[in-house]
Amino acid sequence: MMDFTNRVAIITGSGSPKGIGYAIATTLAKQGATVIIADVSLEGVHNVAKTINDAGGKAIGIELDVTNRSSIESMVEITLKTFGRIDILVNNAGISQKITVEDMTLEDMTKMFNVNMFGLFLCSQAVLKTMKKQKYGRIVNISSVAGKRGGGIFGGAHYAASKAAVLGFSKNLAREVAQDGITVNSVAPGLINTEIWKSMPEDLVETIIDAIPMGRPGETEEVAAAVAFLASEESSYITGEEIDINGGSHM
Ligand code: NAD
Repeated sequence: MMDFTNRVAIITGSGSPKGIGYAIATTLAKQGATVIIADVSLEGVHNVAKTINDAGGKAIGIELDVTNRSSIESMVEITLKTFGRIDILVNNAGISQKITVEDMTLEDMTKMFNVNMFGLFLCSQAVLKTMKKQKYGRIVNISSVAGKRGGGIFGGAHYAASKAAVLGFSKNLAREVAQDGITVNSVAPGLINTEIWKSMPEDLVETIIDAIPMGRPGETEEVAAAVAFLASEESSYITGEEIDINGGSHM
């Protein structure tokens, strides 16, 4: 158990109760963090924040579109007005699309990058001033195994490209802010048991699972555990690193 008492954490894309962002938010809240549940779904953020508060945690829900700079600025402003600091940013919001490169339009590519990469850039940029002033910050980016080895048509080549971009961005930013008390790391999950995968054909899921040495998909809590470590004080000498969470499917 880590201690996140007095730490304020923003988790983007955390408004879906079956998603990775939800698991990250509840994991941090259980260990004492104040969590900002931020997502495009207004109903989602309020429901998740209520669940965490009802369980004795401390959470507020804020509607956020990571593709919109003023929406991000407003979230940062509300967070600072309410809690006075931002210690942790988890860039988790993401989309995918089942499509081949042959069928892909430039709009598909642009939309993917707008959320998965440019949104992550805008959110990171928006918290830097505060984290620098605090001389403390933890940025954890959610990439994907698809960014390292391609993910097939289910996620799309644009998804894989955006997640590869996240890895490069994290390392570069990590270098830039290394002397400001801020660390920037990423995690690259493989197949995780969420709604995204429920829409996949069963035979495809079976083929993917057969290729995982552990023989099973990961659970959202297993991603959250690694994110919590990178978001903690205990990871103080780790930056520009990425942790694979994939049951051995990519080593
Ligand atoms: P999910 O769909 O449950 O969660 C994504 C969340 O992002 C949703 O709540 C959605 O509303 C939100 N979102 C989408 N566009 C947004 C925007 N413009 N602004 C703010 N929020 C927005 O999916 P998930 O599986 O929990 O995925 C979470 C992250 O993990 C994503 O970045 C995804 O690419 C990554 N990932 C997932 C898997 C997996 O197997 N599920 C594997 C590798 C990486």
